[in-house]
Formats: sequence, structure tokens, C-alpha cells
Amino acid sequence: MDIFKRQNIVECAVRFQSDLDCKKYLSEVKWASGYNCRKSGHQGSQIRKDFSRTCNKCSDTESPGAGTLFHKVKFGLLKAFHTCFEMTTTTKGMLVLQVGRRYGIRPDTTRVFMHIVREAMKSSGNYPLDGEVHVDEFVVGGKESERPGRSYGGKKKKVVCAIQLTKEGKVKRFYGLQIKDFSAKSLRPIFERHIAKDAKVTTDEWKGYRPIAKDFYITQIPSEFGLNFKALHTAIHQVKSWIRTTFSWVSKPHFDRYLSEYSFRLNRSQIKPGIFHNLIGRMVNSDKIYINNLV
Ligand SMILES: [Zn+2]
Repeated sequence: MDIFKRQNIVECAVRFQSDLDCKKYLSEVKWASGYNCRKSGHQGSQIRKDFSRTCNKCSDTESPGAGTLFHKVKFGLLKAFHTCFEMTTTTKGMLVLQVGRRYGIRPDTTRVFMHIVREAMKSSGNYPLDGEVHVDEFVVGGKESERPGRSYGGKKKKVVCAIQLTKEGKVKRFYGLQIKDFSAKSLRPIFERHIAKDAKVTTDEWKGYRPIAKDFYITQIPSEFGLNFKALHTAIHQVKSWIRTTFSWVSKPHFDRYLSEYSFRLNRSQIKPGIFHNLIGRMVNSDKIYINNLV
């Protein structure tokens, strides 16, 4: 198939001009390794004008969008593709209102679709951070006047995050998870999900990391007001300012999705050309449960 790798919105508009163009693309992604009837398992099919496939054995007709996260998108595939394009290629993502206005979609409908996209952006957990990894926590939201440190509750959302460093000490990849407190039990999932067992992990001296050090290679050093974790703190600053400027209010249940969106773009910033196609692949192959989880 002709994979769309462009970063330019005009080229996107030229390549995808109609719902049919998008259906063609979806069909190529969906049946990349051949057709298999969803009812009979038969492999022979007729391709219809709208790129649906009709099984030669049982006559079941399946549209390219069926069983994917594009299924039943109310405003059509063309707008959905363009929203995906913008969410992957703009540095800071898009606001619901911007997308809604640009494509003439109602804000509620836009919001749901963008959450579906974020769900598709969620890490598979198949590529844990390795090499040199730094871990820390931060808080967002609530009143800035709430006292600093790890002791407060209140309205702030707590996040644990991890970065993998490049040889030059810059951020290579980033993952974040919302946590309910800073206990070892809450901190552990980011290790289990996103950090390789043999990664060389560094944290500050917070006691919550000590129990985890039994299973991971963790060195604890003083933070020195963040000086020992410069790249990580720059990343944290960027996430916080992205959230603060892009979303004036982020509800707790959706918060992990925003973190997924952030990681998805940042972790692919070196491989930009594949990012849109990667997302379409995830939208096609994601489990439908996602949609049920959303509503
Ligand atoms: Zn069949």
C-alpha cells in the first residue's frame, strides 16, 4: 500500500478528499495481510466499489470501518481522518473547540471522538524504557497556592512519570501515569508497565521507591532541587504547561488519556513520517472494548 507519510496539511487534503479515499486507506490497513471472513473464516472475497468485501462463501459484507474505532463515526471518515492527522502532526495537539469549528462538528461529538483517538494512542507497553531512566512525580491542577511536597491531597492530580535519556542526557521517551498517592503501591505500576527490568533507574530519595528497588535496578540520589534530574524536570514542565494552556480543566477519568496523547507524540518525534499511519493502524486494530469503556 501507499503509506501516507506527509506532515503537510495540504498534502493530507490532496490525498484524502472524500470518505471513499479514507475507506480505501482503511481497507488496505485492515486487510494488509489478507481477507478473512469474520463469519465463516473464508479467505475469498469480492471487493466492492466502496472497498467493502463480500465473502465468496457466505456473502457477508464487511465495510473497511467495521470493527475498528472508526465504526459509526457520526461525522464521516473524512473529518475523522483529518482530525487524526492534526492530532498526530501538530506539536501541541488540538482543542475540541478548534477541531469542532474547523470541521463543523458538534463539540460533544468531537470530544468523544478525540477521546477514542487518545485511547488508541495509549501505549501497548511492548516497548518499555531501557538504558538510563529517570523517575519522579508531579502534580497538576488545583490551586497553585497548595503547599508543595508530597503531603497534600486536595484537587491536584498526582502523576508519576519516567523518561529514558539519550546519550546526550535529553529526553528520548516519556510515560506518565495518574496515581492516587505517592506510596510504593501506587508508584509500582509505571515500573511494571513502562520500564525494562534491566534499565538503570535513578530516582530522588523518596522512601516510596525503596520497596520497588527489590525488583528493579534503582539508584536513589538527592534531587538538589531538580538539578540532578534536569531533563526530567524540563519534560515535567512541558507536560504541565501543555495541560494548563491546552485544557483549562481536565477531569480525572480523562487525565490518563491526555498523558497517552502526550507520550504518543513525544515518543515518536524522531519518527514523524510514520506517526499518522501508526495511529490509523491502532484505530483499525484496537479492541472495540475501548469505546464501551469511554461511554
Ligand atoms: Zn464468509
